[in-house]
Amino acid sequence: METITNRTLNLHEAWFWHEEEDRLRCRLCAHNCLIAPDRSGICRVRKNIDGKLYSLNYGRLIAAHLDPIEKKPFNHFLPGTQSFSIATPGCNLACDWCQNWQISQADEVGSLTRIPEVDPKKVVQAALEFNAASIAYTYTEPVVFYEFARDTALLAREAGLKNIFVTNGLITPEANADLVTWLDAANVDIKAFDQDVYRKYMHGSLEPVLETCKALKAAGIWLEITTLLVPGVNDDPLQLQNLAQFIANDLGTDTPWHISRYYPQYKFDSPPTSLKGIEKAEHLARMAGLRYVYPGNTASSTQTVCPSCGKLLVDRDGYRTVLNELDDGRCPRCNTEIAGNWA
Ligand code: SF4
Repeated sequence: METITNRTLNLHEAWFWHEEEDRLRCRLCAHNCLIAPDRSGICRVRKNIDGKLYSLNYGRLIAAHLDPIEKKPFNHFLPGTQSFSIATPGCNLACDWCQNWQISQADEVGSLTRIPEVDPKKVVQAALEFNAASIAYTYTEPVVFYEFARDTALLAREAGLKNIFVTNGLITPEANADLVTWLDAANVDIKAFDQDVYRKYMHGSLEPVLETCKALKAAGIWLEITTLLVPGVNDDPLQLQNLAQFIANDLGTDTPWHISRYYPQYKFDSPPTSLKGIEKAEHLARMAGLRYVYPGNTASSTQTVCPSCGKLLVDRDGYRTVLNELDDGRCPRCNTEIAGNWA
């Protein structure tokens, strides 16, 4: 098997690590891996080479697409705009039903040595050429390509573009404190509201994800939440109620929640989420006081309705915004301010 050395790739030293005797402690995500010489962390893209931690996936783009912002999904952030969406291989979780497992769970050496490195300037240039309003760090887990995302984001900001994370939220408070200095919006995937589910199916922890959501909110980053509803795993009514309460109480009732339909993928082959299951979850969310609840991965259109007077404000056909009646972020009928960034 080929081994990545400092000659195989143009190596980029990682951020957030320190030495512990002959091993290295990575402080980027909540796993806090202790990495032996010549070994990688759980994400398989940060490696201890000759006593330094390197980001192996720096600039190794495995996906780059122009997507409607609604596809990320964001329903309250720059509606109707396009987001230049990029990913590198790697993830710090291993969800049994991962919808992007071919790239998120890619083997370290096999994938990385074959992918040419892209300069952050090229990403920003492409986003501008495509007339995107933002760059989205997405598809896999952007936390594990933090250094590349950061370098790109700083240039993007200078060029007038917004920066968006679509993330599982498993980042340390230390790294998150840096992230919020250059991020504009985040969609955090809260995959369940049960630590045992996180441990068994994703090989991760719930608590750091909740802490990240609270910290992003406190820092003024526009936040939307997504949950992929997997039958028999995270669709227990009490679990959903508790998750809805967390969003309402800790993040605010104005925080949009996307409840998405699961389809069999990767190691999981139970039937897709029923539409009735999505409707039940939406009902629980509204009972908890959430004002903006959206079904995802369904054929139905999604609408934003004024929580005060009931006027239809934004209508979407799939990922396309087909109607936007907002007047400077307010309901034109009753003048209620609708949370979000509508510019
Ligand atoms: S980013 Fe997370 S999974 Fe990857 S090496 Fe660091 S602590 Fe481990």
